[in-house]
Amino acid sequence: MTKDVLVFVEQRDGLFLPAALQAITAAKELAGKTGGRVTAALIGQGVGPLADELDKAGVAAIYIADAEPLAKYNALTYTRALAEVIAKADPQIVLMAASFMGRDLSPRVAMRMNGGLATDCTELDLDGQGVLLVKRPIFNGKAFNKVHFNANKIQIATVRPNTFAAPSGGEGAAERIEVAFASEDGDTRQVTKEIAKTGGGEKDVTEASIVVSGGRSLKSEENFKIVYDLAHVLDGAVGASRAACDAGYQPHSRQVGLTGKTVTPQLYIACGISGAIQHQAGMRGSRRIVAINTDPEAPIFKIADYGIVADLFKIVPLLTEEVKKVRAG
Ligand SMILES: Cc1cc2nc3c(=O)[nH]c(=O)nc-3n(C[C@H](O)[C@H](O)[C@H](O)COP(=O)(O)OP(=O)(O)OC[C@H]3O[C@@H](n4cnc5c(N)ncnc54)[C@H](O)[C@@H]3O)c2cc1C
Repeated sequence: MTKDVLVFVEQRDGLFLPAALQAITAAKELAGKTGGRVTAALIGQGVGPLADELDKAGVAAIYIADAEPLAKYNALTYTRALAEVIAKADPQIVLMAASFMGRDLSPRVAMRMNGGLATDCTELDLDGQGVLLVKRPIFNGKAFNKVHFNANKIQIATVRPNTFAAPSGGEGAAERIEVAFASEDGDTRQVTKEIAKTGGGEKDVTEASIVVSGGRSLKSEENFKIVYDLAHVLDGAVGASRAACDAGYQPHSRQVGLTGKTVTPQLYIACGISGAIQHQAGMRGSRRIVAINTDPEAPIFKIADYGIVADLFKIVPLLTEEVKKVRAG
């Protein structure tokens, strides 16, 4: 086993997932301690141009599995392709984003490689023996779990989005290693017909570093326009409370919370959301929380870093205008 840290750099339709690139930053920190290199696994079809982008992220080698059956995510083919890469690269540690794909793929790969797995990690380090040691939130962020790995097995971890910054510092000299991939009859047991997108070219809440969410108080789908306007000037994504989704103001793909999505952006702006415990379960891990609510007693203010007691219909458009001015310089 080498001392290398391999990152599975998830891409969809020729675009890297920001969280997958952020995992490279985590890998660099770890490789600095293991004394190994950071290598990357690039899987898909026609992914050559993406390897050039990975050069800029500062990886030492890129293992490329490029084949027609890998055009769309399929748990069976991707598991085999990544297992092939791991067998060839022989890393000590494998990292990937704690995305939907990462959640599906990581346990399959861990089983196949007979390795250890910790998911949704927010801190990654090495113990005294140079073995991976991670911290991961449990019980909706109310407690942390420290996971020690077995030194003799491959150590696999998924990294929570927005925990690490985007990587930089590549010299464009990464070694490129082709990894052969052959189809098997059983591959067609699973077919990806369509990867559901959040819609309208909008960012998904789990992938954005800024999320602007609206609650029941928005009163209609049309009124959500002011939430979208603010999200757009901030280059963020739009989220919603369950009450807003149940009322049909937003699709459930945008729901944040216990029965929705868990988000960990740098900035979460809650507009007219009371902050029920089930909503908090999905967003309390955000780095900074701004709450706008007419009720000074709303529970959201207990976890907010900045609170604005005001009517969102007045404040949100004002914020949008101010951000525009700042952005315009
Ligand atoms: C099993 C279970 C799972 C659940 N899962 C989720 C989940 O995943 N996500 C989730 O969000 N909820 C979830 N809920 C529902 C949750 O309990 C709350 O009912 C919901 O979050 C409330 O949504 P809200 O804050 O938009 O609405 P409300 O609770 O109605 O709050 C609206 C808020 O807007 C404020 N307001 C009103 N007008 C304005 C204005 N003009 N300007 C500014 N503020 C204004 C009010 O003061 C109030 O605080 C779940 C509940 C259960 C039982």
